[in-house]
Amino acid sequence: MLVLKFGGTSVANANAIMQMASVIRDKNYPGKMVVVVSAMSGVTDMLIKCFQKAEAHDDSYQDLIQELEKKHMEAIEQLIPMNIQIDIKGRIKLRFRELEDVCKGVFLLDEISDSIKARVMAYGELLSSAIVSEAFQYNGLPNKLIDSRDFIVTDSNYLNAKADLVKTYQQINDKLPDAALIVAPGFIARSESGKTTVLGRGGSDYTASLYAAGTQADLLEIWSDVDGMYTTDPRKAKSAYSIPELSYEEAMELAYFGAKVLYPPTISPLVAAQIPLLLKNTFNPSHQGTLISNNPAPSQQVIKGLSCIDNIAMITLSGNVMVGVPGIAMRMFKAVAKENINIYFITQSSSEHSITIGLAEADGNRALKALSAEFEEDIKQGTIYPLNLEAPMSIIALVGNGMIQQPGIAGTTFSLLGDNNINIRAIAQGATERNISFVVQADDATKAVNLLHDTFFISKTGKPEFAEA
Ligand code: ASP
Ligand code: MG
Repeated sequence: MLVLKFGGTSVANANAIMQMASVIRDKNYPGKMVVVVSAMSGVTDMLIKCFQKAEAHDDSYQDLIQELEKKHMEAIEQLIPMNIQIDIKGRIKLRFRELEDVCKGVFLLDEISDSIKARVMAYGELLSSAIVSEAFQYNGLPNKLIDSRDFIVTDSNYLNAKADLVKTYQQINDKLPDAALIVAPGFIARSESGKTTVLGRGGSDYTASLYAAGTQADLLEIWSDVDGMYTTDPRKAKSAYSIPELSYEEAMELAYFGAKVLYPPTISPLVAAQIPLLLKNTFNPSHQGTLISNNPAPSQQVIKGLSCIDNIAMITLSGNVMVGVPGIAMRMFKAVAKENINIYFITQSSSEHSITIGLAEADGNRALKALSAEFEEDIKQGTIYPLNLEAPMSIIALVGNGMIQQPGIAGTTFSLLGDNNINIRAIAQGATERNISFVVQADDATKAVNLLHDTFFISKTGKPEFAEA
């Protein structure tokens, strides 16, 4: 079994869908395949706008629905011969009438729940998968279309649903049709109580990973519009290039630290089932892409990737009486967690004088307020100083299994940045030694990324500049 997932740009229009069909045909794969698709690019965002407008009692949501309908109908007209368009057009029209009904309800009530939001967002993948399946049918790829809601079982966290792995794998085993090629929508699932859920933005990758693990596939391929995972963000450093091989752990660190090509939860089901993951470019299929597995080929690169998350706020809690007092960190994290705010970064100086956390700038003031309230009494007593927020900052992370037991990387990094007048505001290294992260002022981030990339990565000319001993 081979599971392939194609992202929004790979199904963006008729040309892209034909290109995707040719990628699949050219494989000549002898076994069975499941093809998971995202919504056409931009569609999920538009669906979100639809319900936002409807909820605000703005009837221009209807224009958006019309625009969406036109986009999908155009693809059908270009992909499927005129004399047989009628059936698929009818099915797509029906979906749009349903979508209109749901949005009309929201418009009339001026109100929406997460469950209804998920129902609206699900249309993107329902539409794209139906069109792709039909297009394949008429282009030499007979297939069976399924609805992923019949297979992926989740909790009732409608917009960011978590799969129940045992039940999901059971459904896949019991019910997946016996067809050489199956087409499935990504992103959408169903709660145990039978309601539509979605797996979080970018969640189609995760759907594909669940099909792969559930069928014990030989390989999962994720096809997008870039040549795999890059050494760093190519928009920041021109010398960035696609990494040929990574371990699961390295890929996970890079995905969590901002490499947008992969939705981070995708990797964990693959690790458990030992299924390799190949990232490929639909529009440049001859490029080898990035292979992620348990046993990546040995590499000269100590550092595999360099990631950078922008728009970070840093909040520091400090005081005299924190030394040796247990429970301060717990109170800090609890107060932030209660607000449902994600923390990217934590450091505590070993003198225990201060604890610093990094979080999204957008959450900064909310976190500051929650923390100031939590420590109000201590601040009044003077045992803890008023909290301090700094923004905008960027977190840069060096990732690679090769850093384990390899001295000197942190030293090289910090003297390089120091020599170039870049001030490092906080540093953290995971005890796994797979990740060294540090915080710099946002203005310094691009310069820091370029300096580090030029130092640690084999240049395009092939010369390793910091090779493993
Ligand atoms: N269409 C969904 C989104 O835009 C899921 C995906 O494309 O992976 O987030
Ligand atoms: Mg994606």
